[in-house]
Amino acid sequence: MHSLVKKLLELQKVDLEISSLTKDIDALPAEEQKRRRKLDELERTMTERRARHQKTELESRALDKAVRGSDDEIKRLNERLNIVRNNAEYQATLFQIEAVRKDRDVTQDECLKLLESAEAQKGELVAAEAAHAEEKKIFDAFLVEADKLRNSRAGAIGAAKERRKPLTEGIPDDLLREYDGLYKTRDRQAVSPVENSFCQGCYNKITMNDTARLLGLSAVVRCGSCQRILYLSK
Ligand SMILES: [Zn+2]
Repeated sequence: MHSLVKKLLELQKVDLEISSLTKDIDALPAEEQKRRRKLDELERTMTERRARHQKTELESRALDKAVRGSDDEIKRLNERLNIVRNNAEYQATLFQIEAVRKDRDVTQDECLKLLESAEAQKGELVAAEAAHAEEKKIFDAFLVEADKLRNSRAGAIGAAKERRKPLTEGIPDDLLREYDGLYKTRDRQAVSPVENSFCQGCYNKITMNDTARLLGLSAVVRCGSCQRILYLSK
């Protein structure tokens, strides 16, 4: 095997190790983002429902206050009935009482309707709060687990990266760049064996000329189909 290809093959072994160590860790940020979006959505729902419920409660309180104001007014008008001096004034006051009472009843009906709405909204708010709390618990547990996984892998990943460094020594920069690119784009197989004249990366047959060059060991040979760096295994 060509000495540079041998080095690249060693490098690929360590890179595969690093890949398998980081695979699920690399997926964590996207997973975290997905879960965070879900949590944010539930929080928005909770906030909206809380605001809606508060608004209804404030409105119903305002109406209740108006009803009590009308009651006071009716009481005052009833007292006036005792001191009016003539029949016309008496009738006018009775008329006024009736008008205030009518308004009061309408307001009280609205107030009762709002109280019913507030009750229903409270139920929806409680449900939203529970859903959010549950998701928050799951999310927090996920963060703890993710951290644990990162910490438990950190040592092994660091060690593998340390072992990788000396393996790149003596490999020309452009070949190293080519290898890195192939490793990423060729499903973590930049260096591929050739068995019975077939590239084991893409299963295409390599040319007689390339076979001869591989046997000659004087050049780095690439697969004509997938561009992987080749070596003869059989
Ligand atoms: Zn190939």
